[in-house]
Amino acid sequence: MTAEIGPRLAELAGQGVPVAAWCLDCGHHRILAVADLLARLDSRTAVAAVARRLGCGRCGGRAIETRPHYAGLGVVAGHRWEGG
Ligand SMILES: [Zn+2]
Repeated sequence: MTAEIGPRLAELAGQGVPVAAWCLDCGHHRILAVADLLARLDSRTAVAAVARRLGCGRCGGRAIETRPHYAGLGVVAGHRWEGG
């Protein structure tokens, strides 16, 4: 079992922060409201783990990356995060 690290959905909900999701195959990205995710997922779900529940709406790929979309943190350029 792999421990999920990083913020969880409950934390983002408390901060009013949405989740950004990227497709690593085609670069398609979406901003997901935490409220929508909480309708389907447990609030203790790590943000990074949400990616496994998603598929790309454009290319159908399953290589999705998710992270908190903190406003004002700067532009997220590209889709190259590893680890975390
Ligand atoms: Zn895609």
